[in-house]
Amino acid sequence: MTSLQPAEPFKHLNISSAEVLERLTGRSPCPKCHKSRMYFCYNCLVPVDALTGKIPHVRLPVEVEIVKHPGETNGKSTAVHAAVLAPDDVTLRTYPDVGSYDPDETVLVFPDSSAGSVADVSAEFSAAGRPLRRALFLDCTWNQCRRLLDSDQLHGLRCVQLRQHETRFWRYQRGKPRTHLATIEAVYYFVRELQESRHDTYGGEFDDLLFFFDHFYRTVFRSRAAGSLWAYRTEDTWVRPSERARQNSDSEEAGGRDGSGVTNGQSERAP
Ligand SMILES: [Zn+2]
Repeated sequence: MTSLQPAEPFKHLNISSAEVLERLTGRSPCPKCHKSRMYFCYNCLVPVDALTGKIPHVRLPVEVEIVKHPGETNGKSTAVHAAVLAPDDVTLRTYPDVGSYDPDETVLVFPDSSAGSVADVSAEFSAAGRPLRRALFLDCTWNQCRRLLDSDQLHGLRCVQLRQHETRFWRYQRGKPRTHLATIEAVYYFVRELQESRHDTYGGEFDDLLFFFDHFYRTVFRSRAAGSLWAYRTEDTWVRPSERARQNSDSEEAGGRDGSGVTNGQSERAP
């Protein structure tokens, strides 16, 4: 039986109310570069004035650096969410601007064949008396990542692999499995797994990293559910509206919670 995307996949998380986002009536100038933006400026990494001081400010247990391939545009990248919501702890770079990283303090979140779980690698660092201070993420396609991995600065970094999580990204990513996470999802699950491994518990303290992601997901879901665009199933199979209507008739009658899916999202742009 086909499982369809839920309308509110993050409802159980401790995410701040998005009312402040829903109240915005239009775009306004970025406080730094003055370009017209809806919620935040994806180049200057700051919210618009109407949201300054009104969106969550998340602190992370490690420094996070995200290295973006130059072919990935900021306007489409969810890495920007991390920089806007956790500005004290997140640095965004565009290759070839790569920092220099001490392998005694830094892990690379990448599913290399040698990668260990977050819990195992965290325990390795502790046992060796090494402080795990920084996590590096790559924001790129698989092929682009191979090129970034050849950078001298990334050699020798211990790779960590997240547990299997299913992405809720609304943007269609042809050929990618549903476990291929959007960058903000990867950052979220990493700090969450790290916290769980260090403290045996997790109290929702990083859930607001998904503040924008959850809002955009619900917004896209609502508009697509009401409209005539494509929907998707949790498999990598895409369904045309006519077929979707037929397939959804049962689940919509059952309350609609698992009704239509989201989008093909090819042209969807983050604000
Ligand atoms: Zn700007």
